[in-house]
Amino acid sequence: MTTLKNYINGKWVESKSLSTTDVINPATGLTIAKVPEGCREDISDAAEAANEAAIQWRNTPATQRIQYLFKMKQILEASTDQIAEICTRECGKTYGESKAEMVRALENIEVACGIPTLMQSAFSEDIATGVDEFMIRQPLGVGASISPFNFPIMIPFWFMPYAIACGNTYIVKPSEKVPMTMTKIFELFESLNLPKGVLNMVHGGRETVDAILAHPFIPAISFVGSTAVAKHVYQTGSVNGKRVQAQGGAKNAVVVMPDADEDTTVRIIIDSAFGCAGQRCLAASVVITVGESSKAFPSKLIEMAKNKKTGYGMASDVDMGPVITKESKERIESLIQKGIDEGADLLLDGRDLAVPGFEEGYFIGPTILGNVSTTSQAYTTEIFGPVLCIVQAETLDDAIEMINKNRYGNSACIFTRSGAAARKFRHNALAGNIGINIGVAAPMAFFPFSGWKESFFGDLHGQSSHAVEFYTQTKVVIERWNDEWTRKF
Ligand code: NAD
Repeated sequence: MTTLKNYINGKWVESKSLSTTDVINPATGLTIAKVPEGCREDISDAAEAANEAAIQWRNTPATQRIQYLFKMKQILEASTDQIAEICTRECGKTYGESKAEMVRALENIEVACGIPTLMQSAFSEDIATGVDEFMIRQPLGVGASISPFNFPIMIPFWFMPYAIACGNTYIVKPSEKVPMTMTKIFELFESLNLPKGVLNMVHGGRETVDAILAHPFIPAISFVGSTAVAKHVYQTGSVNGKRVQAQGGAKNAVVVMPDADEDTTVRIIIDSAFGCAGQRCLAASVVITVGESSKAFPSKLIEMAKNKKTGYGMASDVDMGPVITKESKERIESLIQKGIDEGADLLLDGRDLAVPGFEEGYFIGPTILGNVSTTSQAYTTEIFGPVLCIVQAETLDDAIEMINKNRYGNSACIFTRSGAAARKFRHNALAGNIGINIGVAAPMAFFPFSGWKESFFGDLHGQSSHAVEFYTQTKVVIERWNDEWTRKF
């Protein structure tokens, strides 16, 4: 059984931690690799290497730095199938979903290739006679990303390409549940011939994260994961004087107005709720039916959800893979039961699903709960599985109020044919990513991945101009050049 290695200072090295965690294929329940639990020494080694490499790297012109990114895009694109297969094996999502993740990762590399323009800044000539003032953006030094299990390929790319394009060196810490995908990506990165120490990868869990939060050589940290850990990372990192952006959990509502185009809406909501087995931070997990739409709409959702085939993600006819761990499956099933005990109607039950040939896998089929109370745990908790709750509202204002009371604010969507309803919704809904007749409001790489309330801690988000601002610090220069000084020549 392979124990994965860290990539530090241009070399594959064993972790200094002696303990390991099993990496499990969630479709089979079998261990497919071992990953080190990680320790402070591993982070120290990576931070020292990255710090050492930082001076030469920031002095490499941006036009040269992005040449590595052009090549990075090419090598990843050429190996998409191989990377996607590893992703499906360790994460469970379908092969198609893994490939789609790669597309979103590549988009971020493409945007970061525009750094020579994106890093440009302001210049004011003649703020006084012979005096000019301007601002320049400079890298911070060493950055680090800490990512969750659900997008093993994409999420580090919301940050890393921008950070290194801006002249920082970097440490990637993948989720210990899905460390093989990024290990493969780093193997491919070897052919980039980046200067040693510019890109490093350290495996591990809590101890590794805490070491990143404490290390004096790492001034900027990007985190994505659950809200509880996002808060811990944001608070501890800030207390230690670091710049932190921490994206947290979600409970996204989709509002269905009576005038919504029924077929399109049903199809899109089912894809949003059950794609990636509901383990997407932008998944629709609550449908709010407004007025008349409460009557026929739930039965249409059930019909469409029943057609989703759950099974091993590498099979071509499968729509939905397993959830990530045995513990996740148990937790999701107990939240379904809790919802029923708290008065919800079980409209579709995905528990006790048998997938022939994969009896030990962590499968749950699409599950729909109707008449869910807004005080019940099924409504208030992030279930992070293939469970859709339906609640009713009398008016659009009531629906918006429900969304605004939610402690999370990752995304909110509306389905309607009315421009006025759509406008009111986008103006008033308290969420960072808004969808109008869209089920997964995932921003393209040239927009920031927003997120409000307890779905985000920090100021600047991942992707696009926000990532550039996050990974640079501004320096303002005021210069005087007296005309008389030149007359001597
Ligand atoms: P998680 O919080 O358990 O783990 C995320 C990372 O934090 C991992 O790298 C893990 O090693 C580390 N970690 C876990 N516990 C820790 C602790 N106690 N101290 C320090 N570090 C710790 O999240 P997960 O289960 O891997 O991912 C699912 C969560 O991520 C969901 O809540 C989902 O909504 C969220 N998510 C959010 C976004 C977003 O953009 N807002 C995107 C994807 C996923």
